[in-house]
Amino acid sequence: MATITERPRELPIYAEVDVVVCGGGPGGLPAAIAAARHGARTLLIERYGFLGGLATAGLVAPILGHHAHNSQTPIVEGILKEMTERMHTLGGAPTWEEALTKWGINFDAETFKRVADQMVQEAGMQLLLHTLVTDAIVEENEIKAVVIENKSGRQAVRAKIVIDATGDADVAFRAGAPTTKGRAWDGKSESMGSFIHLDGLPDLSDEERKAAVEKVRQAMAEGRLRFYNPGFLNMNDMYHDHSSANMTRFSGDSTNAEDMTRAELSIREDVWKLVQFLREEVPGFAKCYIRATSAQVGPRESRQVLGAYVLTGDDVHSGRKFPDAVARGSWWIDIHCPLGHTYPVHLCIVECPRQLQCAFWAAQHDRMYHKADLYPPEGDWYDIPYRCLVAKRPNNLLVSGRCISATHEGMAGSRVMGTCMAIGQAAGTAAALAVKQGVSPRDLDVQALRQALRADGALV
Ligand SMILES: Cc1cc2nc3c(=O)[nH]c(=O)nc-3n(C[C@H](O)[C@H](O)[C@H](O)COP(=O)(O)OP(=O)(O)OC[C@H]3O[C@@H](n4cnc5c(N)ncnc54)[C@H](O)[C@@H]3O)c2cc1C
Repeated sequence: MATITERPRELPIYAEVDVVVCGGGPGGLPAAIAAARHGARTLLIERYGFLGGLATAGLVAPILGHHAHNSQTPIVEGILKEMTERMHTLGGAPTWEEALTKWGINFDAETFKRVADQMVQEAGMQLLLHTLVTDAIVEENEIKAVVIENKSGRQAVRAKIVIDATGDADVAFRAGAPTTKGRAWDGKSESMGSFIHLDGLPDLSDEERKAAVEKVRQAMAEGRLRFYNPGFLNMNDMYHDHSSANMTRFSGDSTNAEDMTRAELSIREDVWKLVQFLREEVPGFAKCYIRATSAQVGPRESRQVLGAYVLTGDDVHSGRKFPDAVARGSWWIDIHCPLGHTYPVHLCIVECPRQLQCAFWAAQHDRMYHKADLYPPEGDWYDIPYRCLVAKRPNNLLVSGRCISATHEGMAGSRVMGTCMAIGQAAGTAAALAVKQGVSPRDLDVQALRQALRADGALV
């Protein structure tokens, strides 16, 4: 690749704070709220013009991981419960009690944005939207500043503690923290996908719905449509006058802009083929249209930051508990085919129909999970240890959300939004306590952190 030398230049310092949180998604938003509520001077930086990450930009719903496996016992409360209740008062989510009776918390993305705005302002932090964190300046094993870029130019932010909640561990990677990517065998990550909202839908009886979904399934089986499931009428959102479907798929690396470009084009083409198929071939759907596709294709997995502990698939399956637990998860080892194969392929498990046609399956099937072994024990959960949030280096780096220290299989469970929000509250609280005590996150008294989390309504 040809290169050009960039002129070295002094960077203006935009802000000097105690805690900077990079990324305002399910991992970053609660981290910033918790840090600010604990008195840390906090700056939250987000590349979009709104908060929520994939909960809003990705139209991803519902929020999963709020109760124990196949049970109504809550395992995440704190800021997640507070947000749900606030969204409920605006008509954009069920009550907490109702949410506990469902597999996930249905919500409306616009209500999420509004509640996030309110909570961030009330917590008294600085918020900087439309800003990308592009680099980290590291000296003597400390992040001295993160580099930001926006329409005002390139600037630096100095902070005592940096929380990387970018989903892709952008800051950690730039700071030279050890990271891994994808599965150990070939580095491939789970496939990505976009949610779609379809509108102009007819009123259908249950029988007619089933028939319409079956037509789509048949077209998938014939290779005319490329999705991993036919659920185009699924309602994951709060509002049910449109569908909110999670059926698209693309295999690629979300830290590679060329892959992301291909993903956007490929998924939009797949969605348009679906709508044309529905209009032309499924009775009643002539007026069906795409109300929205997500602002960005959603990555399920990319970089994981290496910490002193690496959460594994066996931790998820066995419901393992840890003395330094700071969050709980109950979602299972949900690995969407990393090669992007569509129907009838869905999960990367021993029972995958491709078997010997897949090089990974051929080489690894005796190490892969069987369908029956993907889940935590009934009524149970697994803990997320604090060690998964503390980067091996630099010293002042904490990680939140889906890029914590975990294997491909471990993160396939811990990546859901309810768990990311619990992790976020823990990361933000830890950062504030570390600043107060003048210690590095690694040297923080974890039992004091757990006590602080419990006092704030978190379940640990
Ligand atoms: C197709 C799909 C379906 C899913 N389904 C579900 C589901 O049904 N339920 C569920 O609970 N979870 C689901 N998930 C998982 C869940 O959405 C994510 O794992 C979760 O959102 C991760 O949260 P996060 O905060 O770590 O990352 P993100 O949600 O990706 O948020 C990261 C934030 O950081 C910002 N950012 C990134 N880089 C930078 C940068 N360099 N500078 C500044 N800002 C930056 C982004 O704009 C974003 O706001 C799904 C994911 C996908 C892709």
